[in-house]
Amino acid sequence: MHTKTIAELSRELHSGSISSVELTRHFLSRIRQHGDTLNAVITVTEEQALEEARAADERMAAGKAGVLTGIPLLHKDLFCTRGVRTSCGSRMLDNFIAPYDATVVERMRSAGMVMLGKANMDEFAMGSSNENSYYGLVRNPWEIDHIPGGSSGGSAAAVAARLAPVATGTDTGGSIRQPASMCGITGLKPTYGRVSRWGMIAFASSLDQGGPLATSAEDCAFLLGAMAGFDPRDSTCIDQPVPDYVTGLDADLSGLRIGLPKEYFEEGLDPGVASAIEEAIAVFKDLGAEFREITLPNAHLSVPAYYVVAPAECSSNLSRFDGVRFGHRCTDPKDLVDLYERSRGEGFGDEVKRRIMIGTYALSSGYYDAYYLKAQKVRRLISEDYRRAFESVDLILGPTSPTPAFRIGEKVDDPVSMYLSDTYTIAVNLAGLPGMSIPAGFVGGLPAGLQIVGNYFDEARMLNAAHRFQQVTDWHSRIPRNFA
Ligand code: GLN
Repeated sequence: MHTKTIAELSRELHSGSISSVELTRHFLSRIRQHGDTLNAVITVTEEQALEEARAADERMAAGKAGVLTGIPLLHKDLFCTRGVRTSCGSRMLDNFIAPYDATVVERMRSAGMVMLGKANMDEFAMGSSNENSYYGLVRNPWEIDHIPGGSSGGSAAAVAARLAPVATGTDTGGSIRQPASMCGITGLKPTYGRVSRWGMIAFASSLDQGGPLATSAEDCAFLLGAMAGFDPRDSTCIDQPVPDYVTGLDADLSGLRIGLPKEYFEEGLDPGVASAIEEAIAVFKDLGAEFREITLPNAHLSVPAYYVVAPAECSSNLSRFDGVRFGHRCTDPKDLVDLYERSRGEGFGDEVKRRIMIGTYALSSGYYDAYYLKAQKVRRLISEDYRRAFESVDLILGPTSPTPAFRIGEKVDDPVSMYLSDTYTIAVNLAGLPGMSIPAGFVGGLPAGLQIVGNYFDEARMLNAAHRFQQVTDWHSRIPRNFA
């Protein structure tokens, strides 16, 4: 059951050959079986899942089911889930039971999906390796002494190991695409404003965007269709109709103009990853796509600009966690200052503290113009690069991450080298564009991902290209050997 796609599972649910309760039990038992090895799930909501599965089966029997009804999923643990702990991977929110559902959660629920639990993640979504979680690191199912990528590492590892057919994630600088790439699955970060951020615990509000992680582009299309759309509770959510992402999947790619940014194939790119991308390009050529070289001259500024903008926004967003309004409170504070200092000192981990300090510094009077404002200007230049590129191409292709998954512990003491693993993904967030990562091969047993970037609200075209690629390749259907 766990090797099937949503379309296949849905057909079986509709034909009555399996029930959602059976399917849910199957995935719950896989989570139990592999839970300790991967540590991909923070909270398993077994009873609630079975209840939801029963409700899905009833809905099915009543003839009111859609494609997603009865399909199990995991939510990254920063989507608020009513009555269920929403920890954000942090001690700060270890005892936080969300009083409401995030819009994404609510939409999945009303489609009849079954929540299996909450996926592990880097604390407050800050990280590229999932080593920053209060609940312990997550392991890569392909090589368990390697990281799964981050910050949606739990979601990606769980889907790769088939502990859930699909999962939600969020992407502020690469956190859906980079772990999808490192775990050999398909992940999509929508256009900023396509999916509501309401109930998604904020890291950097002008960059954060929720999206699906699944084994295939087709499954991402199903999920995105149910997730996307206007939400009056998020003022940055855009009121634009949601296309049917599934119908266009099979469209012919002849004449599709694809740009290859020369900056994405320079120094720093692992040769194994480079050759996987070259082979993928050849596949797209066979499918009728036309390639041309493009340039994104400010690409090299994306990591520095991001590491000013994102920490600045996080220092502001995380100020609410002070032990009074929200979050962990220390015991026996001697006065108010002591309460703030110890609550925040105990509640946050090192990486979160590092970002809060950088952000507070960059926003302080005297430095604001030199850092924050400057970074915002660079951000505009980066968006302009893409705008220009999209005048002559329909999609942009390149690697998702410069290297395959690295070893656990390899970069923990070197934050800058960790930050560079998002070098190809971050610019997409700064520009607010949609991007996805699809499996494109292996380098020494570890997956390599291909990134597809689209123009604003052009998710359908990215999904179409990804799906056509997946019809003629089988990278996305490979399963790590210990999880088959
Ligand atoms: N790795 C990047 C960071 O640590 C991106 C994280 C994300 O997209 N949430 O900020």
